[in-house]
Amino acid sequence: MLTRYSLRRSLPLLFGLFALLFGLLLLSIELPRSEREALESWRKHTGQMLALQQSSLADHLRQGRMEELHTELADLGSLEDVRWAAVLDQHQQIIAATRLGLQLPQQSGLDDVGLQRVLASGQSQWLAQPRERFLAVYPLDNQAQHALLVGFDFSHSLRLIQHNTWLFLAEVLALLLVLGIVLSLLYQRLVTRRLALIEQATHQFAAGLDDARAQVTGADEISRLGHSFNHMIEQLQHQQQALRASQQLLSTLIDAAPIGMMVVDQALRVEQANPAAASLFNCSPDELLGNQPQDRLLERDAVKRLSQAPANSNLEFTALRDGQVITLEVSMTPFQRDAREYYLVLLRDISDRKQAEQRLRFLAHFDPLTQLANRNQLLQRLELLVGAGCPLALLFIDIDHFKRINDTLGHEIGDRLLAEIAERLRQHMPANSLLARSGGDEFVCLLEGANADDGKNLGSELLNLFNQPFQVRQYSCNVSPSIGLTLCNGQQGSASDLLKQADLALYAAKDAGRNGLALFTPELSRAAELRQQLEQELRLALEREEFELFYQPQVDASGQAQSMEALLRWRSPSRGLVSPADFIPVLEETGLILEATRWVFRQACRQARRWQSEGRHWRIAVNLSPLDFRQHDLAGQLLQILADEQASAAWLELEITESALLDDGPQVRDCLARLKIAGLPLFLDDFGTGYASLTYLQQFDFDGIKIDRQFVANLPDSPQSVALVRGILTMAAQLGLEVVGEGVENERQAAFLLLNGCQRLQGFYYAKPQPAEVCEQARGFARGAQLC
Ligand code: C2E
Ligand code: CA
Ligand code: CA
Repeated sequence: MLTRYSLRRSLPLLFGLFALLFGLLLLSIELPRSEREALESWRKHTGQMLALQQSSLADHLRQGRMEELHTELADLGSLEDVRWAAVLDQHQQIIAATRLGLQLPQQSGLDDVGLQRVLASGQSQWLAQPRERFLAVYPLDNQAQHALLVGFDFSHSLRLIQHNTWLFLAEVLALLLVLGIVLSLLYQRLVTRRLALIEQATHQFAAGLDDARAQVTGADEISRLGHSFNHMIEQLQHQQQALRASQQLLSTLIDAAPIGMMVVDQALRVEQANPAAASLFNCSPDELLGNQPQDRLLERDAVKRLSQAPANSNLEFTALRDGQVITLEVSMTPFQRDAREYYLVLLRDISDRKQAEQRLRFLAHFDPLTQLANRNQLLQRLELLVGAGCPLALLFIDIDHFKRINDTLGHEIGDRLLAEIAERLRQHMPANSLLARSGGDEFVCLLEGANADDGKNLGSELLNLFNQPFQVRQYSCNVSPSIGLTLCNGQQGSASDLLKQADLALYAAKDAGRNGLALFTPELSRAAELRQQLEQELRLALEREEFELFYQPQVDASGQAQSMEALLRWRSPSRGLVSPADFIPVLEETGLILEATRWVFRQACRQARRWQSEGRHWRIAVNLSPLDFRQHDLAGQLLQILADEQASAAWLELEITESALLDDGPQVRDCLARLKIAGLPLFLDDFGTGYASLTYLQQFDFDGIKIDRQFVANLPDSPQSVALVRGILTMAAQLGLEVVGEGVENERQAAFLLLNGCQRLQGFYYAKPQPAEVCEQARGFARGAQLC
């Protein structure tokens, strides 16, 4: 109970209690004891005194000295505690008394009989009476005829004793009080105050005062307690600082975390949120407090899904931010705090990822430029239909000469045109059809459940769609398609077979002059097979060196051969001598042309060196394919061959067709510039057949041009050809270009060309392409000097 009070109070209280108990004890023991002792001592003393009085009074009676008797009796009556005294005779009559008119029965409390009996005993007696009164009876002779009766009242003495006892008690208590105060002061100085200092320091520390210390001096237990306390506080301070630092770090990390974090209670109500979580909803963290899932998430079953999801599993929800729907990835991790269940909620904005996924999904199945299905989707659909045995028609649509649009109007216009074409096609697509862009300028239409007529009808409708030009910005583009059609009755063929068939039909449409529809036939397949076979044979031919070079001279006005054009021949073991027109396109398509060109150039170098060493100063013209310019470092390779074969660049010429220059990127320019710098003369072949011959002449530093044989063929009868060839020759003269007339077959053509300033002539009129040794045997190529 005492521990309820502070030590400052409990000690005096304890002391007071002790004093009280002590006093009570003292009172209960001391008072009766001192009363008893006082009474005994008083009786002893009074008894002795009365014994003396007894004999003295007896003497006086015996002697009849009544006066002395009275005097002595009066002395007795004057004694303290003596109320009255009387001497009785044998009749129990008062013969002397200290009071006049003393009523004996009244004062003694004894009636006559009682008195007589007492007196009859002849003994001295003390009779106790109420209220601390006593009656002493002393016989004054042996016959008990006279007796001394004294009434005592001891109450006054007793009160005195009590008074003294109380006084003693008070003194003791006062002493105890003084002692208590002194002890308390000492106690306060040594214990309470010093403990209070420790307590005060504790409060200060609890209140956050960092330098709170208990200033307790000395070497006793309390000062040791103080030191231990101070030490403990220092340690606590260090721990608190470390804790604060780590809490600070933690809260900084949480605040800076790029991921949204929230603490929610069991009702999923937000209790804490970091800035990243708030920024997901474009609000402040405070605005999130108290929110529940339904306040922010759009899904109605958000609470149910969150509550039922296993811990740490990722769920996806949508929410609104600035009116825009965002996708959130949410996970919840349960934890305990203050014996209550909470959840740490992690939120991530995965809208970008979702969009990227959607975009990827879209890209996996759609063409981003035209929004049409892509080749992938087409294949999947086709495989599905073929697998299900569904009859169908497949139309392969390719835009004729689309490359020209890109080359002349730029790729941006090209792309827009493709989008326009796609849109026009799409609008015309019947139900149960799938239109896809399979790449570049190729579209494929898949018509489900179609027969031959359906396919053909759709094909011609699509062709008609291109009758109207397409308007792209300021350009009105007239383009035409070539369409390959194949049909499947659902019985045979695989998806890739069908695509191949449509592709072959498309090539047939192109071969037939473009802007048309061609239906796949088994013959096309056979032709393709033959082509495949040719391709394989050509590969072998390159390996086995089955190629030869024929040379056709280019002669000057005097009939002297200036240069020899190297023309490739293939002496096939199975096919005989094959014309380049039959295999050069195949070499180009397969990429084998690159190897062929290197072979031709090397042979030309060797032949040139041979002829030069024999004194035949014929330059050799080598044809380059447009494909050659796509190979890496064409110039470097040719110059390397030149160096390998120790041939001079001046012994050779290069003939480049316009189509090689259509793709006039920096690679082509650099290549031509390097060859030119190396000293190789450059000639623009088939001049006039291309589209922008004059532009090329201006852009590239050519040494000469070769007028295409289609213009020469009609000379000199066709006024158009005459005008054109004259124009070319005039322009070339102005530009300082050498001109070679190709395909000269008769004298009139030769005469016209020479007359109009053409420096060199080439054609069957002078010589057909022949093996080198045949050319060497010819004596000359002048008119009349027959073919070598
Ligand atoms: P080209 O460069 O225009 O070569 C000239 C073609 O015209 C040669 O046909 C030649 O035989 C033919 N020719 C020459 N004079 C006359 C004539 O008076 N009348 C007629 N009708 N034709 C004449 P060839 O040898 O069949 O070559 C055809 C094409 O093959 C060449 O046309 C050239 O583009 C290509 N070619 C030939 N050899 C090579 C080669 O080594 N590399 C490359 N890339 N292409 C080559
Ligand atoms: Ca040529
Ligand atoms: Ca030519």
